[in-house]
Amino acid sequence: MQLSGLGYFGLRTGRIDQWRTFAEDVLGLRVTTTDDGLLLRADERAWRIALHEADTEAFGYVGWEVPGPAELASAVAELETAGVTVKHADDELLRQRDVLGLIHIEDPNGIRVEIFHGARTAVTPFVSPTGARFVTGDQGLGHVVFNVGDFEATYRFYTQLLGFRPSDFCDLGRKRIAFLHTNPRHHSLAFAGLVIDPERKPKKDIDPGELFHFMLEADDYDTVGYAYDRAQDSGTPIALTLGRHSNDRMLSFYAVTPSGFEVEYGYGAITVSDPWTATRVDGTSLWGHRRPERQGA
Ligand code: FE
Repeated sequence: MQLSGLGYFGLRTGRIDQWRTFAEDVLGLRVTTTDDGLLLRADERAWRIALHEADTEAFGYVGWEVPGPAELASAVAELETAGVTVKHADDELLRQRDVLGLIHIEDPNGIRVEIFHGARTAVTPFVSPTGARFVTGDQGLGHVVFNVGDFEATYRFYTQLLGFRPSDFCDLGRKRIAFLHTNPRHHSLAFAGLVIDPERKPKKDIDPGELFHFMLEADDYDTVGYAYDRAQDSGTPIALTLGRHSNDRMLSFYAVTPSGFEVEYGYGAITVSDPWTATRVDGTSLWGHRRPERQGA
C-alpha cells in the first residue's frame, strides 16, 4: 500500500469558540462554521482539520490519502486479505468528509483510521488571516503524533499493513518513538510507547490512542516567530519553547491547544527519499524545546 500522505484529521471538542480564536489568531488557519463545529483550511483544500462539538476533548479520526479509486480498491483488498475489518463510508459520511471514496479501519490503539481519495480543492484561494503559508502539496498536511499501548503491534500495523517506512527512532528513558514517512515529509506519523520494562506502571498514565500533538509547517521562519509572539501575547500556554529537532531539523515551538493536547508550529524540516536508512537519535532536539518552567532554572 502506498499512501500519499496525511489528508485531514478530526477532533471532538467542547471548546469551539476558543478553537475558532486559536485557529485564526495564533495558527493563521481559515475557519468556516458547519452544522456541528468548524472546518479549518490551511491550503487549497476545502478543509484540513474538522472540529466537532462534543462534551469531551478527544481525537476523532485521521484521514490518510490515496491517489485515486484504483488505489483505494487495492488498499481494501490488501486489508481484507490481512484479516482487517474494513468499513465502507455511506453517502452521509462521504458528504461530511467531502471526498469521493472512503473506508475506515481501527488501529491497534482504537484510533479511527480513514483511507480516502477525491478530496475537494476549493475554487477560492487560501488566504490566511495572519499571512501564513503552509507546506503541504506532496508532503500532505503535516504530522500527527500519538501515545500508543503496544508499540510493536502499532509498528507492524503501520509499516506492514499501511506501508509507512521508518525515518528514525528516538529512545527517551523507557519510551521509544517511531517516526514514519509515506512521502517526502520526514514523518507524517509518529508514535510513542513504553518498550523498556512495559509492565512497570508509568509515572503518568498513558492513554493509548491519545493525540500528543499535530504539526503544521510554515514556509518561512518569520511566520513561526510571529506565531510564537501571538501565542504568548494571547496567553496561550507554551508547551515547548522555540527549538530545533534533531531528526527532521524542524525549527518549531509547541503550544497547548484549547483541547489540551499540543500543536507543533514549525519551519524548515528536511525531506526524505527512499531508499532511506533509519537511524536512532538519543534526544529529540538539538537546542531549545524546553518546558517553560525550566527556563532559566
Ligand atoms: Fe512533531
